[in-house]
Amino acid sequence: LYRAKSEGRNLYRFFEPGMDAAVQARRALEVDLETALPRQEFDLDFQPIMNIASGEIIGAEALMRWHSPARGKVVPDDFIPVAEETGLIVPLGEWALRKACATAASWPPGLRIAVNVSAVQLKSSGFARAVISALAFSGVPAGQLELEITETVLMDESKAVLKTLRQLRELGIRIALDDFGTGYSSLGYLRRFPVDKIKIDRSFIRDMGNRDTAAIVRSIIGLGTELGIVVTAEGVETERQLDMLRDNGCVEAQGYLIGVPSKAADIQRLLKARAPRSQTG
Ligand code: C2E
Ligand code: CA
Ligand code: CA
Repeated sequence: LYRAKSEGRNLYRFFEPGMDAAVQARRALEVDLETALPRQEFDLDFQPIMNIASGEIIGAEALMRWHSPARGKVVPDDFIPVAEETGLIVPLGEWALRKACATAASWPPGLRIAVNVSAVQLKSSGFARAVISALAFSGVPAGQLELEITETVLMDESKAVLKTLRQLRELGIRIALDDFGTGYSSLGYLRRFPVDKIKIDRSFIRDMGNRDTAAIVRSIIGLGTELGIVVTAEGVETERQLDMLRDNGCVEAQGYLIGVPSKAADIQRLLKARAPRSQTG
């Protein structure tokens, strides 16, 4: 069943020996994940985001971490897809929203908190309510919360998802398009749903030494400028990449050069030291 699903739906695969072990391993992962939330095995790290022109840190992105007693550190790419398939991403994502907002409540005023949101969460009926509740509970103003969604969410024709996003945006919550450039080349959805931010996928930044890739990066920055959308470059690791981005008018940068994902206490220290002056008072 899993083999058929992972190779695209509506097809069948014959059972082969060896699949049994894979199915059992997958089932064990699902069971561990299910118990991880009540056992408080999840945590959030925060990665700083910098305004390139001023060098100031304008906020941070929350990144989920799973410390499994049995498996050790499990990376999000290994457990988020499983949580999406089992539906656990709904309560897990809600936990992340609450935790991220609660953390950001003690940051200097005006700093943004970015939270990743899966398409499965957006399709679940209580999503808007969960977001509003996380804001109310923490006291973080709506304008400081940024929800990171992927292109596939906007490609989806589902009216309900667009309605939810509009509703949240009307409250002042900002919507960012994550991993921009990796999904589909159709940009029609940008007309149907205006976003506040585009995050250029780190695969483009990594290959910016290549002339064609550099041209694509420049075009995305130009697109953002024309549409009045903030452009953030992800995965910035070298001064050279940062210089190229600055020269081309990219607004924000995120990546190991600016700061690695860090514990809440460490990020709070960094934010206090490098947040815009007017906002630290
Ligand atoms: P993402 O949203 O694109 O997050 C950025 C990823 O790039 C993070 O990986 C981060 O650690 C990594 N990164 C940051 N700077 C650099 C750099 O300079 N170089 C390189 N090579 N990598 C860098 P991470 O933390 O493993 O997260 C992977 C993905 O898991 C995220 O990609 C996001 O799609 C997903 N994810 C993480 N937390 C959550 C969450 O709370 N909810 C949901 N739905 N998804 C999440
Ligand atoms: Ca993200
Ligand atoms: Ca990304």
